[in-house]
Amino acid sequence: MSASQTSAPSSPRPAGPDGAASPRRLLEKLSPVSGARLGDFPVADEAEVRAAVARARAAFPEWRDTPLASRIEVLGRVKQVLAEQGEHYARKISEDTGKPTFEATMMEIGAVPLLLDYMLRRAPVLLRRQKVSTPIVLPGKSGFIEHFPRGVIGIISPWNFPFQLAVVPVLSALIGGNTVVLKQSEITPIVAGVVEDLFRRIGLPAGVVEIVHGDGSTGAALTRAEVDMLFFTGSVATGRKVMAAAAQRPIPVELELGGKDAMIVCADANLERAAEAAVWGGLVNCGQACVSVERIFVVDAIHDRFVEKVREKVSRVTVGGPDEQADMGPLTSSAQLGIVERHVNAAVAAGAKVVFGGEKLQRPGQFFAPTLLTGVTPEMEIFREETFGPVLPVIRVRDEDEAVRLANASEFGLAGSVWTQDIDKGLRLASRMECGQVSVNDVIQSVGHPALPFGGVRSSGIGRYHGDAGILAFMNTRGIMVDRGFLNSEPLWFPYAGKVSHGFELLKGITTRSLGSLVKGFLGLRKKMTRPK
Ligand code: NAD
Repeated sequence: MSASQTSAPSSPRPAGPDGAASPRRLLEKLSPVSGARLGDFPVADEAEVRAAVARARAAFPEWRDTPLASRIEVLGRVKQVLAEQGEHYARKISEDTGKPTFEATMMEIGAVPLLLDYMLRRAPVLLRRQKVSTPIVLPGKSGFIEHFPRGVIGIISPWNFPFQLAVVPVLSALIGGNTVVLKQSEITPIVAGVVEDLFRRIGLPAGVVEIVHGDGSTGAALTRAEVDMLFFTGSVATGRKVMAAAAQRPIPVELELGGKDAMIVCADANLERAAEAAVWGGLVNCGQACVSVERIFVVDAIHDRFVEKVREKVSRVTVGGPDEQADMGPLTSSAQLGIVERHVNAAVAAGAKVVFGGEKLQRPGQFFAPTLLTGVTPEMEIFREETFGPVLPVIRVRDEDEAVRLANASEFGLAGSVWTQDIDKGLRLASRMECGQVSVNDVIQSVGHPALPFGGVRSSGIGRYHGDAGILAFMNTRGIMVDRGFLNSEPLWFPYAGKVSHGFELLKGITTRSLGSLVKGFLGLRKKMTRPK
């Protein structure tokens, strides 16, 4: 439990069936900027989670059977609410997380209408029944594919982009006709209230989106409840627990987990742009993005020039709370501050050099200086584990091949980037990177490209969302085959007597693509389709 989530005295809860009021556990929220107390927030227990799932279950048939055009109309209202409430929501997000209000506006709120518009446009195409071609060996048949919702989806979200990472999965699940129980991070309870406000305002039928508030115990209760799928965004450690819980039933699970993203800077890169990108990509959201730049591989020929450019740019990054219009805010959780300090100190002890920053700032709140490290090597913890803080570790490499090899030598595989002015080479290197998204001459912004799938390999996760994948992730698939039903029997059905040689002929036709054998085999089988009287 972090400092911003220390337990506070319990408050009374509504009386239970026995008439006794049980105490409701509360979590205290402290400002990451000033340390001031921002409020106490309730933790839902197992019974409340189960009741929420039951309401979502009851709402499911009607929402599933609501015409897609009507679901699109309701979900489209999200854009209207964001147009009216966006500024208010952005300020609340900043208060809760400490992130600059510009980032809250663009990367949290702004991402939602972009991704939603794509979904609203693509859902009618993806979700309609599709006819598929049928091979000649299945005469008289036709095949169709259709998708149907999984049911009640349990969605568990993290604190680093608490608005976007809750709202986008919920919308992706709803559009196909699922209902949702959402559990957001206890570290950002104010944003959890904002998300609740958004879904209340669009006028969904009761039970279509149920929101339960609380900590890991509430999340664990959701994983044990009778949901039909779990969609989890968060750490690898919790992702393992979520998957283990899903295995008990078993139900499908999607995991969007951590990253240790590599940036590969080639000798022919636009160094000015690459340095600017390294600074933004490593420090945006105070480095607390799953797709932050966490390892910068720079080829020997330009290493020193590149590092000098980055040093100069890092030194100009301003740090402060949302009211100070700074570039970079504090760490959102005090536990995260501890991890960043540990990684930097261990790296320095193992021989890395601090070129800029390297320590906590002497001011109230959870501020750590933007930090540039050189001389980072694969043995260091900061090379292997997710830091999730404002640190740019630079690794000197001989050439691009060594960069790709080391980039892939990671437990993680979420995203990465390649920097070169030779686009063909950039694409070749991108294809060799073992991760779910790669940018050439850009960083992080690919997450906002609505048609691109998002997700990781290895410990970075299982499954994809965003783009078409984001709609289909929440759907079951059904194959349908239709026969007009004119014949009384089928060549494959009983009786088998006298069919073997015709079967061999048919097999020859299938394997050699011989039309003559196919026809001969079929005609032979047709003659044997009924038992002699
Ligand atoms: P976390 O795993 O600590 O918590 C995530 C959520 O899980 C919270 O809502 C938490 O209350 C809940 N939870 C905790 N214990 C649980 C349990 N036993 N069962 C069910 N739920 C439980 O992660 P975090 O610290 O909130 O988020 C940071 C991590 O998330 C980083 O590793 C980051 O890289 C990752 N992340 C990944 C993506 C992505 O899309 N791949 C996006 C953002 C963050």
